[in-house]
Amino acid sequence: MSDKKIETVCVQGGYTPENGEPRQIPIIESTTFKYSTGDEMAKLFDLEAAGYFYSRLQNPTCDAVAKKICELEGGAAAMLTASGQAANFFAVFNIASNGDHVVAESSIYGGTFNLFAVTMKKMGVDFTFVSPDCTDAELEAAFRPNTKAVFGETIANPALRILDIERFASAAHRHGVPLIVDNTFATPVNCRPIEFGADIVTHSTTKYMDGHGAAVGGAIVDSGKFDWFLHADKFPGLTTPDDSYHGITYCERFGKEGAFITKATAQLMRDFGSTPSPFSAFLLNLGLESLHVRMERHCKNALAVAKYLLEDSRISWVFYPDLENNPDHALAKKYLPNGSCGVISFGVKGGRSAAEKFMSNLRLCAIETHVADARSCCLHPASTTHRQLSDAELEAAGVSPDLIRLSCGIENSDDLIDDIRQALDRL
Ligand code: PLP
Repeated sequence: MSDKKIETVCVQGGYTPENGEPRQIPIIESTTFKYSTGDEMAKLFDLEAAGYFYSRLQNPTCDAVAKKICELEGGAAAMLTASGQAANFFAVFNIASNGDHVVAESSIYGGTFNLFAVTMKKMGVDFTFVSPDCTDAELEAAFRPNTKAVFGETIANPALRILDIERFASAAHRHGVPLIVDNTFATPVNCRPIEFGADIVTHSTTKYMDGHGAAVGGAIVDSGKFDWFLHADKFPGLTTPDDSYHGITYCERFGKEGAFITKATAQLMRDFGSTPSPFSAFLLNLGLESLHVRMERHCKNALAVAKYLLEDSRISWVFYPDLENNPDHALAKKYLPNGSCGVISFGVKGGRSAAEKFMSNLRLCAIETHVADARSCCLHPASTTHRQLSDAELEAAGVSPDLIRLSCGIENSDDLIDDIRQALDRL
């Protein structure tokens, strides 16, 4: 489907039925697969033949959906994971382990920050976090001889900062390491990071890709462009034999197009088992079929709401990359010319208590920890996820006490604005 436009791939990518086969991707809800001889199965175990033997590693339903996401991102190989957390963990741990180091942009999603700064640190992987506003010299200074990757989010959640993908990709490539980009908020409909130099793309498919708050999931897409052999000393896991997998050297056997995803499947999925269920993959595919239509509406609604908020005197500030007053507007125009996403952050005058009252006054926008869904939802971190922090501690964490994160759904924007207006009227 690489010759087809993104809208067509959203609907028809990944799976092409033969004569008489189901039109919709079949849900192969089976843990295991039957073979007539041990020899046939041995070939699968040795990765000498393609096929399925156990759904912890691979499943046809999940693979068909991974293939669609691969086509959407313009990649060479892809896999689904049970969550976005698993996708980011696998993407990094596949090439960085005990004694290694990774450079990450600091405004990334808090869950990923914690995974890196706390959990992976315990596993011996060190991270240096650089500000999205860092100078070239500061970015350069973050690299070490043992650096194995650079990581950032196209649009950071919830900071909504835009990653300068080309700048971070060139820095990574100058140091012989890949750039991993979490493209959850933009989705390939609004940005395809591989076209700007990213090597590996990850997703929390839980968000816009699923789009209906139905299934937690993740995905990893490899561009197949990074030449692991050129930097063989840095990536022994891909360029030397894997004793835990019959002595296979992934790069030799699968080339730069297949090595990364094969290793992540054969080693990490085998050992960690963060496998999505075929039914979740099926639900994800239903979401993908309308992703292009929904993203357009999410962005249109968010821009209308952001413009309304700018004009309302009861609002203290509005942050949305598609607004001209936004510090990242130029980056948004470059990387996300058709719109960024449906998420806006803003402040209500009156601080923490006004924000809390405003939130409970909303009728259409539900209070949820979720974002990027067909239904509008919102979160006031100071009274929910960050409620244990004082105002001073909130400021230090980059979350002002009045900050509200609003995820605009695909309802009618006039109704969303009316809901916000009535919630402000009743403050
Ligand atoms: N990456 C981003 C940008 C996210 O926003 C999230 C979750 O909000 C994750 C990763 C983690 O994904 P999941 O919740 O599917 O594990």
